[in-house]
Amino acid sequence: MAAGGSTQQRRREMAAASAAAISGAGRCRLSKIGATRRPPPARVRVAVRLRPFVDGTAGASDPPCVRGMDSCSLEIANWRNHQETLKYQFDAFYGERSTQQDIYAGSVQPILRHLLEGQNASVLAYGPTGAGKTHTMLGSPEQPGVIPRALMDLLQLTREEGAEGRPWALSVTMSYLEIYQEKVLDLLDPASGDLVIREDCRGNILIPGLSQKPISSFADFERHFLPASRNRTVGATRLNQRSSRSHAVLLVKVDQRERLAPFRQREGKLYLIDLAGSEDNRRTGNKGLRLKESGAINTSLFVLGKVVDALNQGLPRVPYRDSKLTRLLQDSLGGSAHSILIANIAPERRFYLDTVSALNFAARSKEVINRPFTNESLQPHALGPVKLSQKELLGPPEAKRARGPEEEEIGSPEPMAAPASASQKLSPLQKLSSMDPAMLERLLSLDRLLASQGSQGAPLLSTPKRERMVLMKTVEEKDLEIEAALELGLDHISLILSNRGLRRSKKNWRPRCWPRRLRKRRTIVPQCSGPFHIAQSQGQSP
Ligand code: ADP
Ligand code: MG
Repeated sequence: MAAGGSTQQRRREMAAASAAAISGAGRCRLSKIGATRRPPPARVRVAVRLRPFVDGTAGASDPPCVRGMDSCSLEIANWRNHQETLKYQFDAFYGERSTQQDIYAGSVQPILRHLLEGQNASVLAYGPTGAGKTHTMLGSPEQPGVIPRALMDLLQLTREEGAEGRPWALSVTMSYLEIYQEKVLDLLDPASGDLVIREDCRGNILIPGLSQKPISSFADFERHFLPASRNRTVGATRLNQRSSRSHAVLLVKVDQRERLAPFRQREGKLYLIDLAGSEDNRRTGNKGLRLKESGAINTSLFVLGKVVDALNQGLPRVPYRDSKLTRLLQDSLGGSAHSILIANIAPERRFYLDTVSALNFAARSKEVINRPFTNESLQPHALGPVKLSQKELLGPPEAKRARGPEEEEIGSPEPMAAPASASQKLSPLQKLSSMDPAMLERLLSLDRLLASQGSQGAPLLSTPKRERMVLMKTVEEKDLEIEAALELGLDHISLILSNRGLRRSKKNWRPRCWPRRLRKRRTIVPQCSGPFHIAQSQGQSP
């Protein structure tokens, strides 16, 4: 029994590690200074918050269907058998008398310090519509929630840590978006339309074009946040007059730059997420547009459940890409963030089924294992002098032609449209890493050709550039090896499916969680054409 449990645990850890590797986190880690060991696991923490009765009349005549047992556990009536109750245990349980400060101090404040270590953190409010997610995250002027409290503390912390004379200079920026009907909308710039979610060459999830505002005080934060909140898509349903119709995501980035050698830089990202509620359309009275919205909300939450299950079961494919929400949360679930899920539940009987399903989701989520690591690199100017920038090498028109619009965004190691410092603008490493590999190869060959013809002119590429290109080529080759190994794994799956009389649905199906650049290079990898081919190659292997 115990052995089975530990095998299960081991399997989950391996799945989390392979998900992190496939999502690029593994490669990312390799680029960190001094990161030689695998980061230790950190389980997703789960807290449940039961809100009080809110309509005043209920309570006496309608006793609550949920009861807190202690600071970590609760019980709820079992609808299958009224003599029994279902018991749940979490990292924390906050009863109806708990205050905003209790939740913040108990579950959120402890993870903020990780941001100053250059690590990522996420707080997600989950639960049915009307159960208190927005109250928990945003609150009111009288009872401020997690967002204002976290921002206040974080700004205070960064002011202290980044003060003159301290080793690191710190800056904070914010972005605010909503996912509405599978569209990513910038709440700080509503005119920008649907934005795309991408993964850069280091495995970071990013949204090119998303506004990013520097904030140095709480007043700065409010100046951007309050009008943006009014842009959030809300509508009235029978359950909740201002029911949130979208997932709202506040992203706060803490950037640190070391003032003295070795001039390291760190970036920590904090996601504060107020999810839209899962709804039963018979009860909400949703019709027309509201019904369509509800479908999109339920789909993304359904995929969220599938992601959690895939991670827990150690499945080879985690369906992050099946919805915008899960794609964005790739880092928070099974990725590199310190994550806390706050499941909000309501005491009224009419919420009973939604409450049970929220508790079950919360119970599954606490099995998910993340592997947070410090996102640290050298500041661009600390990488040594390089005479020519890529722009100088190619000239603007050529540089633009050399890469398609997609690669320009995918390859960009800087996730958002940040106001770049002078040193960032000139960074040769950034330019090289965003350059099309084919173009790099051509430059290298041209350089060799000129050298072989005894050209007296300056080489096209200075020595550090050449070294980096050779390094990048090695990485490319390693990627191909990984891809070939993954191909083999896929064909094994085909073989198993075909033995069971099943087959893969699409001929060229590939896991969408593969790094994009691996998927793009598919044409130059020898294709295995299915189970028969694999059976043959297995037969031939020694
Ligand atoms: P959700 O965002 O999950 O749809 P809300 O946060 O909008 O739900 O909460 C629904 C109603 O319940 C709001 O009027 C809110 O003020 C109230 N409410 C929620 N949680 C609490 C709480 N812990 N204490 C007091 N009122 C609450
Ligand atoms: Mg809400």
